[in-house]
Formats: sequence, C-alpha cells, structure tokens
Amino acid sequence: MDLLNLDDRLTADQRLVRDTAQGFVREHILPDVATWFEEGTFPARELGPELGSLGMLGMHLTGYGCAGLDAISYGVACRELEAGDSGLRSFVSVQGSLAMFPIWKYGSEELKEEWLPSLAAGTAIGCFGLTEPDHGSDPGNMKTYAKQDPSGDWILNGSKMWITNGSVADVAVVWAQTDGGVRGFVVPTSSPGFSAPLIHRKLSLRASVTSSLYFDDVRLPGSAVLDVVGLKGPLSCLSEARFGILWGVVGAGRACFEAALEYAKTRVQFGKPIAGFQLTQEKLAWMAVALGQAGLTALHLGSLKDAGALRPQQVSFGKLANVRAALDVAREARSVLGANGVTLEYPVIRHMNNLESVLTYEGTQEIHTLVLGEALTGVAAYR
Ligand SMILES: Cc1cc2nc3c(=O)[nH]c(=O)nc-3n(C[C@H](O)[C@H](O)[C@H](O)COP(=O)(O)OP(=O)(O)OC[C@H]3O[C@@H](n4cnc5c(N)ncnc54)[C@H](O)[C@@H]3O)c2cc1C
Repeated sequence: MDLLNLDDRLTADQRLVRDTAQGFVREHILPDVATWFEEGTFPARELGPELGSLGMLGMHLTGYGCAGLDAISYGVACRELEAGDSGLRSFVSVQGSLAMFPIWKYGSEELKEEWLPSLAAGTAIGCFGLTEPDHGSDPGNMKTYAKQDPSGDWILNGSKMWITNGSVADVAVVWAQTDGGVRGFVVPTSSPGFSAPLIHRKLSLRASVTSSLYFDDVRLPGSAVLDVVGLKGPLSCLSEARFGILWGVVGAGRACFEAALEYAKTRVQFGKPIAGFQLTQEKLAWMAVALGQAGLTALHLGSLKDAGALRPQQVSFGKLANVRAALDVAREARSVLGANGVTLEYPVIRHMNNLESVLTYEGTQEIHTLVLGEALTGVAAYR
C-alpha cells in the first residue's frame, strides 16, 4: 500500500511504536468503534489506563512517567491510532499535548508531581479549555476571566465550549483573561463551581466526549496558574497537538483508502470487479498519491521537530495540507463503496465525518491559510 516505502525510513524503535499502536487498535478499537460512534460514546476510563500502560500518553514528554520518545515516534503513534478513529487520536492528543504539555512546560514542580504521573498512566484524564461559545478562531477576545483576590487565590468565571474530554476529565487546563493578560490555570474538575455538561447531537467525532465547561466563582490557589503570559501559552500547546494531527489524518485517510481498495477488488459490476475499471483505478491512484504526499510531509516535519527546527508556520502547512488531503481521500473512497459507503458497516463514512471536525478544530483551514499567507507576504490578514 505504501508505494513510496516511507516506513522504511523509520528506525527499529519507531517501528515498534507503530506495531504497538496498530495492535492496540486492532484489539481494543476496531471491534467496537462503529458501535461507540453510533451510540455517541467513548470508554475513556477503560481505554485511558490501557493507553497509559503502552506509554502513549504524553509520549513525547520526559520524566514524570512519560515515555520520552522522539517526535516521529509520537507522529507514527498518532497515525496508527487515527487509523482506528479520529476520536481515539483526539483523546491522546488532548491528554498528551494539550493537558500534559502545558503542565510539563509551564507548571510548578508541585503541579507536575500532582498531575503528570497519573495523566501519563491514564488513571487521570485531562482536557484543554480555550474555545468559548462566541470566540473560536479569535481566542484573544475570550471572556472567561480570572481575578486574584487579596488572599492570593484566583476566582474563575466564564464558560468554554467544544471541549474534548471535558465531561470525563479530572483536570482542565483553562485559559482565561486576567488583569495581566491571558493566563493558563490548572483546574481540578472537582472544584466547587465547575461543571462540564456533554454536548449532544454531534454527527462527527461521535466516539469522542465533547463538552461545555462552566466556571461559577471557581476558587483556585495561587499555585494553580501556569508560568506563561499571553496567547503564546495556548498557541504553543496547539502547535504540539497540530503536529499529532498532521500525522494522524494520514492514518484516517489510509484506512479509507484500504477499505476502498479491498471493496473495489471484490465488488463485481458489469461482470468484473470495479477495480478493473479505469475510472476506479484513477480514484485509487489519486488517493495513493495524496496519501504518499501527506506521509512525506509528516515525515519531513517530524525530522524538523526532532532536530528542534520546526516552526509554527510549518505545522500550519502540514495541518492544512494533510487534513485537506485526508478528507478528499475519504470522500473519494466513499464514492468507491457506492451505497455501502454510507453505512457504519464500513469505516469510511465514520472517518469522513470525523475529518470534518479535524478540519475545523485546532485552527480552521482558513486560519492556517492566513498563517501561510502572512508567512509568504509579511502581511497579517486576520482582521
Ligand atoms: C469535535 C470538536 C472538538 C473540539 N475540541 C476542542 C478542545 O478540546 N478545546 C478547545 O479549546 N476547542 C476545541 N474545539 C473547538 C475548535 O478549536 C473551534 O471550533 C475552532 O477553533 C473554530 O472556532 P469556531 O467553531 O468558533 O468557528 P469560528 O471561529 O466562528 O469560525 C467560523 C468560520 O469562519 C471562519 N473564519 C473565522 N475567522 C476568520 C478570518 N479572520 N478570516 C477568514 N475566515 C475566518 C472560520 O475559518 C470558519 O470557517 C473543538 C471543536 C470540535 C468541533
């Protein structure tokens, strides 16, 4: 399937990560994921410790029970997990890159000791609250506010929306305005005044928990604040998670391509398998090319990240190009399956619907286009 033999460039350790993630998906995800998607559930509490025991949570971080692997290993794991379902990869991305990373990078030693070992083990679950009902692409205008009272405690008020893992989380990393700019707060979800109701009726990422977060005078100790000021804090976390996305979607696209190829070889119309028609072969060849290009992009950006040279604009390039490619592959694969392309008996429409969310979250395609536009022209066109 891998016409470019890209995986030949992986080291033995990276292949081990790939095979481990593949085995996990085969055993724990594929038998049930269509049912979870149909029912709109995700068994985070059961899967968390399994993923933790395999070192998949915060795997690119060091210390505190994290695996300390390289960026390409993290990417390959995301690719294989997302070949199972984008909801699974979202769980792992949010846990590792959006909840653990800010604590690891900006948290006090006390916060790290308190949260990182259990998040790495998957016995605790984390979420990341940046988006608000009225502020998605422009988080700088967020309304959630934290005010420090004379005792040194912070009082948090406001709301967040579309928060992955929200209702199942033990800890939320919440970004809020303060008198001194945007700050991040580590909020135990057991805090009085915190609530996280589920968002219902999603038709995408159904095997993923998505929630609103409400903060009603949530009192936090002075030590709950992260040591970073301004939007560079949340944006640095998003850069980590977007790197996982640009790898992950290659797996979702590949799963669609494989389903289409297998179907085309066995589905007989006009007396022969539809794989024997030139129009079908054109679709399959184009899908293989798109996935090969996306895989090359991921590998190149992984090498840059491992060399410490990856820039945020390059992550935007990968997120924009690879999600678009994966979604186009999913749509093309769906057409190869004909009517069977619209049922959960096959993985294609599940991946296709999931990728609509992936196109939007962590920076929409328009926002990443504007990032590249600014990088090319030197002119910011966001407003
Ligand atoms: C399933 C799911 C899970 C999510 N998980 C999380 C999470 O865990 N944590 C979190 O904080 N957020 C999460 N999000 C939120 C996600 O990051 C936002 O939806 C995203 O940033 C877009 O914001 P919005 O939906 O408010 O769209 P808007 O910002 O309102 O944008 C609507 C449209 O306008 C376009 N647009 C906006 N500004 C411009 C501009 N300047 N120029 C051109 N076009 C523009 C956008 O590209 C888009 O097409 C999740 C979303 C989904 C769907």
